[in-house]
Amino acid sequence: MASDPITSINLTSLPKVSQGKVRDLFSLPEDEKPRLLFVTSDRISAYDVILKSGIPSKGIILTLLSAKWFEVLSSRVPGLKHHFLHLGPPSGVVTPDEAQMLQGRSMTVRRLKIFPIEAIVRGYVTGSGWAEYEKNQTIHGLPQPSGLARCERLPEPIYTPSTKAELGEKDINISPDEARKIVGDKYASRIEELALACYKAGAAYAEERGIIIADTKFEFGVDEETDEIYLVDEVLTPDSSRFWSKADYQVGREQDSFDKQVLRNWLVDNGLKGKPDVEMPPEVVNKTKARYTEVYERLTGSTLEEGLAKLA
Ligand code: ATP
Ligand code: MG
Repeated sequence: MASDPITSINLTSLPKVSQGKVRDLFSLPEDEKPRLLFVTSDRISAYDVILKSGIPSKGIILTLLSAKWFEVLSSRVPGLKHHFLHLGPPSGVVTPDEAQMLQGRSMTVRRLKIFPIEAIVRGYVTGSGWAEYEKNQTIHGLPQPSGLARCERLPEPIYTPSTKAELGEKDINISPDEARKIVGDKYASRIEELALACYKAGAAYAEERGIIIADTKFEFGVDEETDEIYLVDEVLTPDSSRFWSKADYQVGREQDSFDKQVLRNWLVDNGLKGKPDVEMPPEVVNKTKARYTEVYERLTGSTLEEGLAKLA
């Protein structure tokens, strides 16, 4: 497994459609349906800033984990459709060197029209949700029972959408009614229903494996020809979700982040929180990589080497 992190991804054979904080999307030759090559780099962000160095294999971990979730959720959420077609690019569209670099970190997906909201689901009261609850006993304006402690599990998971901001902008929290106006009446209830069902199924699966998914963000898209809604993007990864260790969980205090705590603590201790172009020392890289790897192994039940070997 390559040990240098891959933080910049360019392909001579495919045009880049867009570059996000962590992913690069490439256009694929037309098939019956439009498709994209969805590539996950080893870039990592903390406190909304992308670090200068990456975490080796993080892109592989997130890709193989998302692929696992598409399989798990398909069997547990009735009627769920998702954008995942297969791992890697279609055969013959990239050079052998590019295929090697993309190994495990790319997937071919259906290209869909993405709804411009983040379908966030929260199962616990934490972060900005806790601050609002303390003040008003609401989360995203939704009334909650009295007497909840910090990081306590909510009686039922709640749907708390936000706008989907452009790169560099901040997402804004909105009510389910505002989300309804953005996506349209025709789709709003189904998106909410699918987001809640995917969270419940995923959180239950993860909890059996020692990981609490406190909250997560899904994205959905629509196939404009058939009008069907699809789950898209990465799914239930540490980057799109708040993961806690079930063994260390205690109500009444903030929880450590399963994956990014080492990095966050190091940034804070060194006065680097939110600063651009920060280079991580090897120890922080290695510990963070170990945490991402542990998430992968717990959730998939196999080692990363085994996951990669299946692709060969
Ligand atoms: P962040 O996740 O850090 O908030 P981001 O979502 O802008 O940033 P990435 O996750 O790096 O960036 O890039 C993924 C992009 O691909 C997102 O803009 C997402 O909406 C888009 N996307 C995901 N699935 C599809 C799809 N099937 N068709 C078209 N676009 C997609
Ligand atoms: Mg994203």
